[in-house]
Amino acid sequence: MSRSVLVTGGNRGIGLAIARAFAAAGDKVAITCRSGEPPEELTSLGVLPVRCDITDAGQVEQAYKEIEEKHGPVEVLVANAGITKDQLLMRMSEEDFTSVLDTNLTGAFRVVKRANRGMLRAKKGRVVLVSSVVGLMGNPGQANYAASKAGLVGFARSLARELGSRNITFNVVAPGWVQSDMTAVLAEEQREAALDKVPLKRFGTADEIAATVRFLASDDASYITGAVIPVDGGLGMGH
Ligand code: NDP
Repeated sequence: MSRSVLVTGGNRGIGLAIARAFAAAGDKVAITCRSGEPPEELTSLGVLPVRCDITDAGQVEQAYKEIEEKHGPVEVLVANAGITKDQLLMRMSEEDFTSVLDTNLTGAFRVVKRANRGMLRAKKGRVVLVSSVVGLMGNPGQANYAASKAGLVGFARSLARELGSRNITFNVVAPGWVQSDMTAVLAEEQREAALDKVPLKRFGTADEIAATVRFLASDDASYITGAVIPVDGGLGMGH
């Protein structure tokens, strides 16, 4: 059955791979696009790009209205959009901290809260939040990012308890190192140091994250909620 799926930050990287996976399975997929033009590939996939910066509640509302008009209420939400502003604590400004929290955690709150309305009415829904291995293990220079990603776990688990009786599941995917624009900025020695700790000795692909997200939104995962699924080549050893 074709469902209305929203993937935030689906214009590139992991989000684009997730959008592609749902579209290939026949779902009606919308993605948020914050800046620039959406990739041309989306048109051939039949994916609907909606302009939306998730730090702006007004834009979130507008995006949902457009999706509801074209695809119906969102039945599967993937909160994937995220940013980093790495800095050692000594040099981390309050803005570095709050802007990462505002995008990664409060941004997820904004889109989940808005999706919840339709899911309650439909008496079903699937929410997948994209966290990070760093949220559970910590990482020097990423206190802001790790706090935001750990926050997603408490957020999802609280909602899993709050809304389980309404047949809405909330799960978290915690990727490890994945090849994307976010990790392309790493210097060669940083990449080597990172891989040294990964049992599978390679970066993950965006498609490997997408496969797990799609599983959590599928019928096969109907009895899974409040879970954190690591997709990290063994880095976190299942946490
Ligand atoms: P990218 O930097 O490649 O893409 C980030 C996406 O988020 C872009 O589509 C970007 O939109 C969007 N985005 C950022 N801020 C906002 C905003 N305010 N409103 C709407 N969209 C926004 O990152 P990845 O694809 O690598 O990461 C995707 C998710 O996976 C993130 O949550 C990240 O933290 C997480 N992750 C990534 C890992 C990795 O190794 N790559 C590891 C663990 C977790 P725009 O194009 O407009 O900037």
